[in-house]
Parts: sequence; structure tokens; C-alpha cells
Amino acid sequence: MDALQTKREQTLLDRHIQPTAMRLLVLEELQKLQVAVSLNELEANFDRADRITLYRTLKTFQKNKLVHSIDDGTGSVKYALCSDQCECRPEEQHAHFHCNKCDLTICLNDFHLQRASLPKHFVMQEMNLVIKGLCDHCSDGT
Ligand SMILES: [Zn+2]
Ligand SMILES: [Zn+2]
Repeated sequence: MDALQTKREQTLLDRHIQPTAMRLLVLEELQKLQVAVSLNELEANFDRADRITLYRTLKTFQKNKLVHSIDDGTGSVKYALCSDQCECRPEEQHAHFHCNKCDLTICLNDFHLQRASLPKHFVMQEMNLVIKGLCDHCSDGT
């Protein structure tokens, strides 16, 4: 077993997720892609896994705060890896960027969202900021 595989097992264990072969593969894929993916996109990268297994894997990851979901306005929920120490609290949430040309969605981990001031008795459960535009590949560097 190589060092990366051992590290991935540890990543799962750190989040109290039992490392199964399937979960390790999904984690590996998410690490490789580096961008947010939808269930459909993930499914396209797996020949031998069925959709329900992948969906359950993502939901387990999400429940244990290994990934977070993003509503980027495209109609399909995307998932991206959380940073190591992330607890997915509202104050830890960051903005996302969606490229209108290539449909890529990425985490802007350094772009923290401002705490919203809400009227009395309003309770925030999540906050979502998606910046839309052209990514570095699509903007021709201008
Ligand atoms: Zn793009
Ligand atoms: Zn994110």
C-alpha cells in the first residue's frame, strides 16, 4: 500500500468514516479533480460504481464534513472537499466561483463570507455566495 493511500485512509478516519475501497476511490477522485463535481460528473468517472453507491458515499462524506455541497445555480448540486480543519460552520463558509463558459465551479477558500446581520428571531442555517464569470482558462488572461 503506497503512502498516498495510507494518507487517504487517515483522512477518512480523521472524519470518522470507515475507509472502504469505494470511499477511498471517491476521495482519490475528488482530490484529483480539485474542482467541485456533481453526482453526474462523478458517475462519468466511475465505470463500475452505480449511482446510488456514489450518492451514498457523497452523503456520508457530507455528513462527516469531508465535503460540502454547493448550489451554484446550474440546477445540479456540486460537491467539493473541505479543508482539513473545516467544521462547516456558517462562519467558516467561503464563496465559490462558477465559470459561465466551461461550467467549472471552484472553492474560493480565502474568500470568507461576512457574518450576516439578520432581523430578530431569524436564524441562519446556510449562506451561499457564488461569483459568476470567466475562469483563468476562459478569460485569456485578460
Ligand atoms: Zn472556464
Ligand atoms: Zn467550497
